[in-house]
Amino acid sequence: MALFELVSSESGRRTYDVKSPVTLESIGQFDAASTAEVREAVDRARKAQREWATKSFAERAEVLWRWVDVIVERQDDIVDLVIKETGKARFEAIAMEVMAPCMQISHYAKRAAGYLRTRKRRPTGVMRFSKKLTLLYQPLGVVGLITPWNGPIALATNPLAQALMAGNAVVHKPSEVTPFSAVLLKELTVAAGFPEDLYQVVQGDGETGAALVDAGVDKISFTGSVATGRKVGEACGRNLIPVTLELGGKDAMIVCEDADLDRAADGALRGSFFNTGHYCCGTERVYVPESIYQPFVEKVVAQARKLKQTEACDGDVGAVFWDKQMDIIEAHMADAKKKGATVLLGGERNRALSGYFFPPTVVVDVNGEMDLMRKETFGPIVAIQKVRDEEEALALANDSDYGLSGNIWTTDLVKGEALAARVTTGSVCVNDISVTYGIPEAPFGGVKSSGVGQVNGEVGIRAYCHLHPIIIDTGKKARGGYPYTPEGAAGLQKLIKTVFGNRFLRRLFV
Ligand code: NAD
Repeated sequence: MALFELVSSESGRRTYDVKSPVTLESIGQFDAASTAEVREAVDRARKAQREWATKSFAERAEVLWRWVDVIVERQDDIVDLVIKETGKARFEAIAMEVMAPCMQISHYAKRAAGYLRTRKRRPTGVMRFSKKLTLLYQPLGVVGLITPWNGPIALATNPLAQALMAGNAVVHKPSEVTPFSAVLLKELTVAAGFPEDLYQVVQGDGETGAALVDAGVDKISFTGSVATGRKVGEACGRNLIPVTLELGGKDAMIVCEDADLDRAADGALRGSFFNTGHYCCGTERVYVPESIYQPFVEKVVAQARKLKQTEACDGDVGAVFWDKQMDIIEAHMADAKKKGATVLLGGERNRALSGYFFPPTVVVDVNGEMDLMRKETFGPIVAIQKVRDEEEALALANDSDYGLSGNIWTTDLVKGEALAARVTTGSVCVNDISVTYGIPEAPFGGVKSSGVGQVNGEVGIRAYCHLHPIIIDTGKKARGGYPYTPEGAAGLQKLIKTVFGNRFLRRLFV
């Protein structure tokens, strides 16, 4: 049974039905917006943006603070809907889809004014005597936001809070797998007092997403798979608009020989099982030196056995959000078993429950020949590979097309930090699972195939702006004008020789 299905395409309008992965019952249907409707939404957003851009940071922040109030008041509605739509564990729905948005929105409501304040500078070099420089962070205009299904609220509120605080309007194409969370999100923004057309949702599939990229927006903020990210990046290149691509990962966990093994085992479970493993910076590969391999594996299995999976989603590990992801998880498991992997726990779909559930799984005897250790699995699986030592673990961690995040476990924090600097990835956490996305001050973004650009904090919000320099000549009369004369040229050469021909002066000058 498909959880997301085209049920009609009469007169060119695509209508989809969405089922809950928990009950397998229909949650509702939606129509994909046409190309013309997407363009109309962008036009309306552009009008709303002009007015919004005139508001001060304090005025914008006031609406964001009200948005937080509304989220807190309506948190049960958010949690219930997200569970219905995704089947994620209740605790995770609260932590990821309520707590994280409150933190993100509050952060930008409070700090955007500082991050984007106008800066006055004195230019360096010869210009310092005659010019003043003002740097203005101007909004880009209308931002097209395209999001995936694994964090239907949080992965929208983070870019949304930044884009709006920076003075932009946003047209959002949510995942077709979780359209109703976006309907609720829109409702919450209206209740908070955002102008009606400032944030709009256009429902639809990949075709609608592609239409948004081509609809005349001023930037695309995309979160999703590497394959789609490439297409979106190409289209943005063609349209000459900036793009941030937050893509998939295959994060490695390195357990050092001196690690606290109980803590590391717990970290392996949280890193691999959080959000049913549908976590872009979830732990997908665990490398453990042979000297600690056996006790580590025993602790992981013992702790994993205690975890609960329930149809009410009130346990530790929720449902698989989408049938297509179940197919990928099962295919990677089958490939691993065929190539010699040993399953110590779980390993097959949980048929005791009627929805789409894959149990907490622990697999060993894995290697880099297996899809489970090379491609993004996005499932609740701890895959542990025995290695000779930490250096081999590091080499294997870096041997990946992906580079989103990663984690290192050691009691020697100096060593941990040094090792972290040698992992070729977007960010690294020591003695914790990857929490980078949840720390707004930490720029988050992938290297290699995991993305382009960084979101969060100062770097993130500034990427929703054009940094506009204004240069003012402070002199009373024009300098350096026509006509050019031989004396003028000789004078310029003399100046170059005097200043840049002298090592001391050239440093003083710039
Ligand atoms: P996906 O790429 O299939 O879809 C993402 C979004 O893109 C959806 O809204 C989809 O409708 C839209 N889309 C599809 N084709 C398009 C096109 N041609 N043009 C424009 N839009 C198009 O990804 P998914 O399956 O929804 O999400 C899972 C992926 O997202 C995983 O790879 C995961 O790692 C990644 N992800 C990354 C981050 C991050 O911050 N790096 C966060 C969450 C998820």
